[in-house]
Amino acid sequence: MISAHTHFLVLGAGISGRSVAAVLAAEGTRVTLNDVKTIDETRQEYRELADMGVSIVSGRQDSSLLSGVDTVVVSPGITIHLPLLDEARSRGITVMSEIEVAYRLCRAPIIAITGTNGKTTTTTLVGEMIKASGRPTVVGGNIGLALSQEVRGVDAKGMVVAEISSFQLEGVISFRPHIAAVLNLTPDHLDRHGGMEGYQLAKERIFAHQTADDYVILNYDDAAVRAMAGRAASRILYFSLTAEPDEGAFLQDGSLCLKRQGAVEPICPVADLKLLGRHNVENALAACCAAMLAGVPAGVMAAVLRSFAGVEHRIEPVAVIHGIPYYNDSKATNPESSVKALEAFAGHLILIAGGRDKNTDLSEFMTLAKERVDHLILIGEAAKRFGVAATQHGVTAIHRAGSLAEAVNLARRLARPPQAVLLSPACASYDMFNNYEERGRVFKELVHQLA
Ligand code: ADP
Repeated sequence: MISAHTHFLVLGAGISGRSVAAVLAAEGTRVTLNDVKTIDETRQEYRELADMGVSIVSGRQDSSLLSGVDTVVVSPGITIHLPLLDEARSRGITVMSEIEVAYRLCRAPIIAITGTNGKTTTTTLVGEMIKASGRPTVVGGNIGLALSQEVRGVDAKGMVVAEISSFQLEGVISFRPHIAAVLNLTPDHLDRHGGMEGYQLAKERIFAHQTADDYVILNYDDAAVRAMAGRAASRILYFSLTAEPDEGAFLQDGSLCLKRQGAVEPICPVADLKLLGRHNVENALAACCAAMLAGVPAGVMAAVLRSFAGVEHRIEPVAVIHGIPYYNDSKATNPESSVKALEAFAGHLILIAGGRDKNTDLSEFMTLAKERVDHLILIGEAAKRFGVAATQHGVTAIHRAGSLAEAVNLARRLARPPQAVLLSPACASYDMFNNYEERGRVFKELVHQLA
């Protein structure tokens, strides 16, 4: 579905842009890769692209780039409201995201998963379930390699499971996944989408081209997501922690259950899930709906749920040392995410929090900390404000540590069974680390050194 006569301009030379440029060049099209920042073209990855025939233009981004171009492909980090793109559209040039390119190249059915939170966990879980059923499966999108690369690895008998952000959905044209899921919708990235309505509309593009032959999986417990059913042409499945849907997945007598054509089939007890937290029960229910539609037997879903411990840096079990379990939740870069982590434990926590402060409200976080945290160890730039808020909410055992290493050592000295040590910073990492991944990896190394 991609004509070799097309001249593509790919905007943004990050992972997504480089991947899609390589894929399009391999399809025999003419490709220009542009980044407004000056890039070092002697680096291996750019030399390889140049060898494939990709022209690289960096350090500028002006309308001369559009000359002779038929289609512009926009990286997820770039807004589709960029003036250059307005000009492209006014000249009749097609503007699309990398996901749209992937869709046009894909031979397998696509399961596409979006939502404000839980995308990576749910997408990974669905991928594991379908793989476990023996079907060739690739997982991509926001995870790992770019989707346009991944889709080339499967034919029509396989399955593509894709995590799709609202940014990527902004630039889709005909994207039509056979199975779509919307996990939840809370205010996030409102600046870029021009408010909640824009954000919701971007998310709805995931099912906008579906027909009655396709399926959309919606969160029944999220009013904004549930209401999307009225605007979908596809068949609706719901997942819910509280209600029994006509078709979908829900909880009955403490077990995850599927419901299809009036028949209820149990999967496994919630207590068997290796993933922690109510939010992950929602993710598991959503994943089971998708897996059911992909023909995965309930027994295979149960086996995956009993063994899948989660994605790295999301309440990830690290090790048990002297009877104390350590968890890495470095992905929790805001208080709401840390609240989810605290909710996942009954109590007895030694919590390491702090980092670069996002100056958001801490009351819910600290109220829960008072209930579940025995010792709060604060690090980074946020330590002072977090300390004040913790005191105000009645947390008494508050400690300061000068580094993550100091915090881990202090946690080890303080911890007594049945306590657990949790890194869930509720802050960005940039005051001490390059990103949350690095913070999580350093934490895991420090914990392993304790053994
Ligand atoms: P995403 O890819 O959408 O960022 P992840 O699966 O990486 O989602 O989870 C990121 C964080 O979002 C988790 O650490 C947790 O705090 C929170 N989260 C995950 N699933 C849910 C959910 N279903 N509802 C609310 N919050 C969630």
